[in-house]
Amino acid sequence: MTMLHPALSSWSEAPRVRSMNGQDVRPEGRYVLCWLQQALRARDNPVIDAALQLGNALGLPVLVYHGLREDYPHASDRLHRFILHASRDLARECRQRGLACVQHVDRAAMREKGLVYRLAADSAAVLVEDQPTFVARWQAERVAGRIDRAMLAVNAACLVPPAVLGDGIGSTSAFRRRHEPLRAAWAEAADLVPDAAPYDGPLPFAPDRLGTASDAELDALVGAAEIDHALAPSTLFVAGREGALVMLERLMDTVLPTYAATRNDATRPIGASMLSPFLHFGVIGPREVMATVDAAAAPAASKEKFADELLSWREWFHYQARGLAAPERYDRIPGWARETLEAHAGDPRPELETLDALTHGETRDETWNACQRQFLIDGWMHNNLRMYWAKRIIAMTPDPETAWATACYLNDRLSLDGRDPSTYGNIAASFGGGAPGRDGPPIYGKVPERSDGSTRRRPSGPDWLATAAARPGPRLAVPARVPVELYLAE
Ligand SMILES: Cc1cc2nc3c(=O)[nH]c(=O)nc-3n(C[C@H](O)[C@H](O)[C@H](O)COP(=O)(O)OP(=O)(O)OC[C@H]3O[C@@H](n4cnc5c(N)ncnc54)[C@H](O)[C@@H]3O)c2cc1C
Repeated sequence: MTMLHPALSSWSEAPRVRSMNGQDVRPEGRYVLCWLQQALRARDNPVIDAALQLGNALGLPVLVYHGLREDYPHASDRLHRFILHASRDLARECRQRGLACVQHVDRAAMREKGLVYRLAADSAAVLVEDQPTFVARWQAERVAGRIDRAMLAVNAACLVPPAVLGDGIGSTSAFRRRHEPLRAAWAEAADLVPDAAPYDGPLPFAPDRLGTASDAELDALVGAAEIDHALAPSTLFVAGREGALVMLERLMDTVLPTYAATRNDATRPIGASMLSPFLHFGVIGPREVMATVDAAAAPAASKEKFADELLSWREWFHYQARGLAAPERYDRIPGWARETLEAHAGDPRPELETLDALTHGETRDETWNACQRQFLIDGWMHNNLRMYWAKRIIAMTPDPETAWATACYLNDRLSLDGRDPSTYGNIAASFGGGAPGRDGPPIYGKVPERSDGSTRRRPSGPDWLATAAARPGPRLAVPARVPVELYLAE
């Protein structure tokens, strides 16, 4: 494998960067291509900074590119709109930063094939974010294997780059011990300044100029795409950078002061930051969130609890996923859990539900319906409901593999923060995290079950659950069987 270009290997953020294909940088290129898929922010973005570090050394401009296809799994108005608003703000803020940013949004009137390859052909190197799950990973790996110049992956999702942690960390407590002392050293964004003027040379396509698009024009792009139009955008979130900043302000003013005490109360909407969709799409990064938390006047216990969620848990799941060939697949759950679930696969299942009833939150379990309708209507679910939601699916589906695929499918299709290392890591933890229990209960075997007591036993719990389970939601097209191809081994 070729070494990194010296401009990158000597850079302070070098541990974020790895070569994906061992190819060389081609200094004769017109630009350094910064291909963003999910890290949709212009500042505090290590992918852009790595591209600038290389571009400045080569005397080349950086060209930022974001493309949105119609055929990614679970494509819907909900996901498309959230992404397009983030992409518009990316373009606007790139311009303020002195960078050219071009976009392409696939739709019937304007389809392009192989755009990344065509853009790469004129580049010195391609910088892409190092995402360990789903489409961003699959696309980057495919392109890396087919281009004849350096493709470099840059970690933009984590505060501490996973590479500096070393391999083989096997538990969250060991992860915390390794991670915590390194945080301060990685807390500052580089935000490099481009030496070159914004790229305005030839392009192999007519780009969409989202930076100047109105809301109506973005809506028209969503409407013109061949995607699931029945799944409406979430009204719980303002999309784009503005939405992330609204949530950040809310975190400081309302959430943090009581976070340690109220985070687990699903009946009180002030308990959680609701930042996960913005973190998933990289609209905001953990460094910016933590800088705000550190500066906030809030009790130390709340700040520590928040840091543990955002830095220990989230970055642990990123670390885990990076070491897995397919973090989305059932075979990632621990052997003992698969064994015990499969040993009980033949147990009677009186609580079986159809995929249609599950998707629409119309099962016989009121608490489960309350959870599911948050996914269906809001595109987000409160943390305290999620473990109950995932574990109950095991009893509501015919076998453990179908349960896994169903949990991933519902989370990925409906939730704005789905398709993430935290999605599959947490579902895996629900199916087989921690130590095995005593083999006893039917269906679950040694996998500990979870009751709905943490919500139902609260004074307002029963009323809250009944109301939440009865919220009217959209009617979606649901396949007869859960699509398993993304989630089970061939
Ligand atoms: C079955 C199950 C499925 C989940 N699916 C997802 C998912 O698809 N995407 C996702 O981002 N998170 C997922 N989580 C983790 C967690 O529930 C959400 O991150 C959290 O509820 C998001 O809400 P928030 O931003 O208000 O969280 P807050 O409580 O405000 O926490 C702040 C941030 O810390 C991180 N965080 C908090 N809890 C966890 C956790 N358990 N694991 C990893 N990071 C965490 C998130 O980035 C979150 O935005 C899942 C958890 C379970 C049990």
